[in-house]
This record gives sequence, C-alpha cells and structure tokens, in this order.
Amino acid sequence: MVEIRKTAPASAGASELFQLLRDGQPRTRSELADLMGVARSTIALRLDALMGLGLVAPVEDAVSTGGRPSSRFAMSTGAQVVLGVDIGASHLRVGLTDLGGGCLADALRDLPVSNGPEAVLDTVAELAAELLEQAGRSTRDLLAVGVGVPGPVEHSTGRPINPPIMPGWHGFDVPGYLGEKLGAPVLVDNDVNVMSVGEREAAWPDVENLIFVKVATGIGAGIICNGELLRGADGVAGDIGHIRVPRGEDKLCRCGNYGCLEALASGVAVAAKLREAGLDARDGRDVVALVNSGDQQAVHAVRQAGRDVGEVLSACLSMMNPAVIVIGGSMALTGEHFIAGVREVVYSRTMPLATQHLRIVQSASGLDAGMLGASMLAIHHALSVESVDRMLAAGAGV
Ligand SMILES: [Zn+2]
Repeated sequence: MVEIRKTAPASAGASELFQLLRDGQPRTRSELADLMGVARSTIALRLDALMGLGLVAPVEDAVSTGGRPSSRFAMSTGAQVVLGVDIGASHLRVGLTDLGGGCLADALRDLPVSNGPEAVLDTVAELAAELLEQAGRSTRDLLAVGVGVPGPVEHSTGRPINPPIMPGWHGFDVPGYLGEKLGAPVLVDNDVNVMSVGEREAAWPDVENLIFVKVATGIGAGIICNGELLRGADGVAGDIGHIRVPRGEDKLCRCGNYGCLEALASGVAVAAKLREAGLDARDGRDVVALVNSGDQQAVHAVRQAGRDVGEVLSACLSMMNPAVIVIGGSMALTGEHFIAGVREVVYSRTMPLATQHLRIVQSASGLDAGMLGASMLAIHHALSVESVDRMLAAGAGV
C-alpha cells in the first residue's frame, strides 16, 4: 500500500472539480473557472491532475476543426472499472462495469453461499480475473468492488452478522479477505439494499424516494430516502420481514416469534400453505410455476400474500411517503396477482395524500438489480471526494 500523504498543492481542489464533472456535461476551462470561483490557470492544473488519473478527458468537439485540441472536458467513464458481486443463496453473479455502470463482462456460477466465505470469495476472485482478462483490463484498472450478500451486514465493517442462511460467514472480514486478493477497496451490504440501488439506477434514476421490497425465501426492503440509501443506526433499516401481521398469530417464524410477515407471505410460506391443500409445492419457484399454469388455489394464496405485504407497507408508507414501491424477488414473477393484493390493501388503508402519486410496480431490472447495485456502491465509493483525494495524493494510475 502507498502511504497516504497530504494532497499536493497543485492538485488541491481537483477532487471538488471532479464532483462537478460527474454529471457528464462537457465544460470549458472558463466555465469551470466561473463555477468554482478560481482562475483559469488553477482549473488547468486541476484538470491535468484529473486527466493523469484517467478520470477526466477532453471531449471530441464537433465544431473544432484544423486539429486544434478540444477545449471542453468531461468525466471519462471508460478508463477504469469496478466489480459488482451479487452473492445469492445458491448462485454467484459477478459483473465488470465502467464508471458509468455500463457492463463490460459478466459471469454467473451456481454456488451455494453455505459453502462458506473462503470458497465463495475465492471463486469471486477467480471470476474477477477472468472478466478483467476478457475486457482487456488488469487489477490496476480496478477502482473498487461492491458486494451484496443474502444476510445482515454491519455497515461500518462490512462483516455479515448472524446471517441465517450463511453458515461460517458470521463476523467474517469480507472486505479484508477479498480486498487482499483483488487489490481494491471492497464495500459490502445486504442484497436487498444493493438491489434497491440497482433498481433505482436502472428504472427510476430521477425518483428520490423509493422502497424496494424483495419477496422470496425471506422478505426485506431497501429504502431510498432523498436519493440516498437509508441504513439506519445499525444497518438494519428496512428489515420488514419480522413485523407482526395480525392474521398470522399462530404462525411460527424461523426467528422464533409468532406472526411475522415472512412466516405468512414468503415464497416458502405460501408453498407450505399450498402443500397443506394437497398441491406439490416446495418453494417460491414452485408457487410461481403453479400460478403461471393458472392454478386457482395458488393464485388465491399469492394474492393473499400480497395483501399481507400490503398491510406492512401501509405502515411504511405513512412513515416514508415514497413515490414508488417496487416489488422484486421470486414472488414478483407471479405477475399482477401478487401486486394486485399489495395494491388492494395499500390504497384502502393509506391516506389519499400519501397514495395520490404513488406507483406500485414489478421490478424492471430482474436478475441484474443485484449486480448493477453492487457496481453502483463501488462507483459511489470510488468517485467520492475522499477516494479521489487519495488517488491524487498517491498519484495512482499515472
Ligand atoms: Zn420472524
């Protein structure tokens, strides 16, 4: 590791200039000087520092002729890359993207998370090396890595905390282990938070307040509040699966309590209900197949699960007042049936002012939400004021 020294005077302020250019809009030195309130010569020095890192480049000017150098500059998304890693219960999806979130190469592996952190993260490192090679890049170009895992994560350390379906992962130093292998900072968050970031990026970039609900084997929500992911004091904001629903009084949840939303409305819970009725359903995937084949008992059960989720979301709506609720996870694949149940309860239980502009929709980004969201976490980290300052100080990429 290069020792971090104070930013050299010549590049001081370059990081702030870069934040201005992150919107992608090309600007001249004069425009930048006016915006930042400094001399053009100062802007020139800062642009040189940022171009040295590959973060900013001159823009091809359609009107410039005679081989004159372009006079406008913008953020350059292609020089460096990040890695987005979506670790699911039974699969692993890894994508290499540029700094604009554009996917350069990706890979999918069947690998149970229960194989433990070393086995899974070693595979991530192998896939990362393959993808970098495919895209003609090296680990030197890798600025950061984002990882989504199917369990709770302590945000300050990136360590999973008592994750129920991830044996061997409790307290494991994911950023330390993977960071050493890949030579880049590693950000870790739970899969639902990561998916909510990906869904917003893919489908709702202009929406500032959004709740993404994943209904699969478990139930959880990612909350985007005023454009930022809301994690709460301990990183568990949005853990709605264990909120009590009156209808479920006698249902024992895997957490040990009775009446949790998850014990009533998850894919596994609906499958259990259908088994009681004599149908062959082991998990959420079977439920989806039954619904799609037109089985009326399955349709009815899924709609009721939607209503149960709607009960809890009605309370969340009064607290958060989102503009969009996105339903993702395997149960969203039942099409309109699940969402119809959610809508039925939400619109009848919530004050009209909170629902007049509300949209309740199915996830648009599907399988890509996790990988894209993990990439976005990495990009936000890599391009933050602090990170760019560090790169400038270390002279990285020069
Ligand atoms: Zn519970």
